[in-house]
Amino acid sequence: METSGGALKGLRATNTRQVLELLLNEGPVHRAELARRMKTSRTTITNIINELLERNVVLNLKPEHKTIRRGHELVSINPAAGFSLGIDFTLDKVAISASDLAGSTVGEAILTVDTAATAESRVVAAASALRGLLDEKAIEDSKIVGVGVGVPGQIDRRTDMVGGSLPGQPWSMLDVRSVFARHLPFQFFVENNSRLEGFAEKQWGAGQHSDNMLYVSFSSGVGMALFSEGELYRGSIGAAGEIGHMSTDINGATCPCGNRGCLVLRTGTAHVLALLRPALGEAAAWDDVLRETANGNPECLTVLAEIGDLTGRFLAGISNLLDPELMVIGGELAQTGEPFLGPLTAALKSHSLPLTSSHVSVAQAALPPGAATGARGGAALAIKEMAKTSTMDNLGSL
Ligand SMILES: [Zn+2]
Repeated sequence: METSGGALKGLRATNTRQVLELLLNEGPVHRAELARRMKTSRTTITNIINELLERNVVLNLKPEHKTIRRGHELVSINPAAGFSLGIDFTLDKVAISASDLAGSTVGEAILTVDTAATAESRVVAAASALRGLLDEKAIEDSKIVGVGVGVPGQIDRRTDMVGGSLPGQPWSMLDVRSVFARHLPFQFFVENNSRLEGFAEKQWGAGQHSDNMLYVSFSSGVGMALFSEGELYRGSIGAAGEIGHMSTDINGATCPCGNRGCLVLRTGTAHVLALLRPALGEAAAWDDVLRETANGNPECLTVLAEIGDLTGRFLAGISNLLDPELMVIGGELAQTGEPFLGPLTAALKSHSLPLTSSHVSVAQAALPPGAATGARGGAALAIKEMAKTSTMDNLGSL
């Protein structure tokens, strides 16, 4: 009897977790729909919802119409039952973001750091900014369900260690989770920062209606995030997605990674600026490129068209390989708009195989590139990852 009682308890706990996961991932759901999706009875759902209402983890939403049918009442996660945090590190910025369980941003901040700063000092700055934000918003530590942290480089998910990467990278061969554990008492989920930007774009931006979406970001680095059936693809150990270090020319320039002709050397912002400085002046910065492109500067339009064409040809191969339905193009280059994205889309369409080309579409990223978007993505990722841990069972009693 004890065994069967234990098994029933276990089943109930699993069902409860599934209900919470559905509400976290999809927003408010009707009770009848919950029963259908979980392949269980309305009575079981009612019992689970009653327990979750008692724990204050879910809310009954007021019906839109007075004459709502029984079983059609909407249930939602209680946004204030917990909070997640996101932190994103780029070369010279640290951004932090706090989100409620419904995915709404409740606070954010961004700091500038010295490009030569060590990883440890960047973490200290982030931890201090987070403390300030939590105090300001009166969020208790016990309410934090997790923190999504974005750093440059490949991350080994077996150890949370950042792979040995390019020279000058402060995060190389560092166990990010352990460094954070010295400064903050939370559960951390570490991810590459392009992947966090992609995650934000999937959650709130141009990719929110696509489950098979490829986000590619062209900034100082070139990174990507692939979503297959709505899930982020990470490869066998978490190192997938380093599109910037795929070679476009085996005889091309040597890359600090050891390869030749890497995509980043031909499409990164440093290269574009180097091509445009003779026309725009030696002190030209990215803002000058954006302004001159918007003004129709012919040098800018020519360079961006050439790089757009090269990028589109390259992405045609990626499209043939991965068959995404949507490619969201982000990063600083995408901010130039049509002068880059037009030639990119035309080349992608004309150089991919007919079936692929008839199906894939291209969209400009909707969120601004950089650390603030990465931090929002980190907070969203932390909720998704937390849902796979025992933190789920303690929601409401935190
Ligand atoms: Zn490389």
